[in-house]
Amino acid sequence: MKKTILSFILLFSFSLMTNSQVTLDYYLPKNITYNQSVPLPKQFFGHEIGEWHLSHDKLYSYMLELAKASDRAVWEEYGRSYENRPLGHLIISSPENIKNLEKLRREHEILCDPSVSARADLTGMPLLVKLGYGIHGNESSAQNASALVAYYLIAGEGAAMDELLSKTIILIDPALNPDGMQRHSTWVNSMRSLNNNPDPASMEFSESWPGGRTNHYWFDLNRDYIMLQHPESKGRVAAFHKWKPNINTDHHETGANETFFFQPGIQSRNNPLTPKENGELTAEIGKYHEKHLNSIGSLYFTEESFDDFYVGKGSSYPDIHGSVGILFEQAGVKGHLRETPGGVLSFQFAIRNQFTVSLSTLEAGLNMRTKLLESQRNFYSDALTQADRHPVKAYIFSEPSDNSKVSEFISILLQHRIKVFKTNKEITKNGITYKPGESYLVPLNQPEYRFIRSLFEPVTEFTDSLFYDTSTWVLPMSFNLNFSPIAVSKEMAGLPGAEITSAPALQGGLDSPVNPYAWLFEWNGYYSPKALYYFQKLGLKTRVAMESFVYDDGKLKKKFSPGTIVIPVAGQPVTGDELYRIMQDKSKEFGITIYGVQTGMTKEGIDLGSNRILVLEKPAVAMLAGDGSNSGDAGEIWHMLDSRFSMPVTMITASRFGSADLNKYNVVIITGSPDISPAGIENLRTWNRNGGTIIGYEAGNSWLTRNKFAEIEFIPAVADKKKEGVYLNKSADSQVQQIPGSIFSTQLDLTHPLCFGYTRDILPVFKSTVTVAKKDPNIYNNPIVYTNDPLLSGYCTKENIERLKGAPFASIHGRGVISLYDNTNFRAYWYGTNKVFMNAVFFGQIIR
Ligand SMILES: [Zn+2]
Repeated sequence: MKKTILSFILLFSFSLMTNSQVTLDYYLPKNITYNQSVPLPKQFFGHEIGEWHLSHDKLYSYMLELAKASDRAVWEEYGRSYENRPLGHLIISSPENIKNLEKLRREHEILCDPSVSARADLTGMPLLVKLGYGIHGNESSAQNASALVAYYLIAGEGAAMDELLSKTIILIDPALNPDGMQRHSTWVNSMRSLNNNPDPASMEFSESWPGGRTNHYWFDLNRDYIMLQHPESKGRVAAFHKWKPNINTDHHETGANETFFFQPGIQSRNNPLTPKENGELTAEIGKYHEKHLNSIGSLYFTEESFDDFYVGKGSSYPDIHGSVGILFEQAGVKGHLRETPGGVLSFQFAIRNQFTVSLSTLEAGLNMRTKLLESQRNFYSDALTQADRHPVKAYIFSEPSDNSKVSEFISILLQHRIKVFKTNKEITKNGITYKPGESYLVPLNQPEYRFIRSLFEPVTEFTDSLFYDTSTWVLPMSFNLNFSPIAVSKEMAGLPGAEITSAPALQGGLDSPVNPYAWLFEWNGYYSPKALYYFQKLGLKTRVAMESFVYDDGKLKKKFSPGTIVIPVAGQPVTGDELYRIMQDKSKEFGITIYGVQTGMTKEGIDLGSNRILVLEKPAVAMLAGDGSNSGDAGEIWHMLDSRFSMPVTMITASRFGSADLNKYNVVIITGSPDISPAGIENLRTWNRNGGTIIGYEAGNSWLTRNKFAEIEFIPAVADKKKEGVYLNKSADSQVQQIPGSIFSTQLDLTHPLCFGYTRDILPVFKSTVTVAKKDPNIYNNPIVYTNDPLLSGYCTKENIERLKGAPFASIHGRGVISLYDNTNFRAYWYGTNKVFMNAVFFGQIIR
């Protein structure tokens, strides 16, 4: 009894805290009845939906509660976020379908396999609809609406609901980015006033850095559908291929001053590999959103914005996989109640729109069921027909100097259900010899034909000059692999070997006598930096060879490249036997070959005691983070050092920087434009003079120039030469000279420490800004420059190509200041340029 009174008081006091109360009736359709035994959101949460922002744990618990309360639903977990929050679907359908879920899934899956899809019977086949909410964690009307949709589908009664559930299987993904959602909900709830304050200047609407949009490492998960570098996307894409939904919704928020957007977006900018029919189906589904939004009087727009050119987003990945992806963008409150030029926008209103288009999607799915199933079947059978007609028959790739990168690359392909084969014979294409044992083949004649083309085909011709996201993502270029198309059918004869079913394991090991004199390993392995850091952390004395040399003791004969790491056996804190064991374990774990040598005398070039083999200190890395720093750049660096190389990075805010003891670090990374106090800047200058390495990263280089750490001159942006134009085109004209994310070739000085570990002197790089620096006047300080014919793939105007020719991708400025002008770690999948960054971290200390 006491407990009841207490909860009553609690509920009552909560309800006093808002002045924009709504009840469940505001959201739900009025023409149906609801099963009283299903827990109402208000009963479960203690407040109505929209009164407070649901935290992820509460939302997740409600999903579990609904699954427990109903025979219409089950919860299926498909992954865990970095912060160990569950990711999954509440799967809702008729009790009969739920009982036969696995059988129905297998029958549906057949549609995507052209070898058997003709025999699928569509008559009674339920449609698969996935409703996905809030991949940007701070677009919270999306996730909050998911609780309503789940309640509606589980509690709703009557013939119409029974029909919907018998003919559809609905996967509700309530929160696509749990960690970001938790950050955002914590912020807005903690900033909420007893009386909602709609003043847009209020702190409630400006989340603290880095905000809740991104995941734990500050990545935009809505760009990771191709690269699959994060657990959220890995699980999600595996679930996509498990269920192959026919419709995938992707619920977002946009600026507070907008209305509501639903796709179709800008049709002319859609990816040309996506069939035209996809746009037609999207438009037909759009008719249902139109009707439903009209019924509640909400303003909306379509076709004017957002395109599906980049197929690595939640609304476009399905489009290139036989499904229909639909993007929704609701004006974001980012709080509870907010003044906008169009009137006061409430959180509840935003949630209602997201809820309403969830229902219109389901109605469309029900009415278009056969058409959508048929379309999915045709998509995959057409793929094989198109592959037959396409001039390229397969792509071959290899990277003899680094099996770790190849392993990750193949892992990505396999997760997308792309078939990969070993090769059976040697073949030479464009001067590259692909040997069996180290080369792999991706034939185009397979169901994922279109997606494979999007990953492998460089594109430099475009029908439009505007892009919502990057203009290219040629995956083997980002991994810096050798790759070639095979366009002659007879070259395919006898080429494919066995199909690969899992990514090749890392290959490493020892090549050593029992009691070596020193240990050597080359720098070309992706995880060589991880190995070096591990050894340094153990306290081992490590050195790096500045020049190549040939070792030959009769048993081992090998040319070692510049950047080879030398670890003498004598003078170490562990015994020779212990060292042997460590080398044995770690060579396997890190996928590198470690050589034991018997003598310090080499056959050619420098000997192991040469003063051209320099002592290396363990990097101790600090990075500016927080307000002013670029959270995207900083997050990519943090993620790489932490998750790939097991290296700590101390992130220091600008306000703390002045009082930080910099002597604990020997590398400081600057991204964006951190607001460091004059004392902090002087602190940094003294530390740099005493030998510390500063890495200016992307926009951080302007900061270095402004604060006189480097004198960098930038090439002026292309002036707008248009002599006339109409106001209507003002915005489009202004974007013609952008570089939206394109791939360029650079030339490397392989003798420079910034290029250690590279075996070819041409390196593809990614660039997404128009900033171009001039070369440092010292000719030895520009080890990586754009080539004279730099555009490899993507959009770039002739004028910008001219600006790039010969310009530096990276420069050194005097002592211990390194500029990386463009992103070496883009979206965590540019494995090919990561080494440039790691070289700056490890070898900045010896570049003098
Ligand atoms: Zn969004």
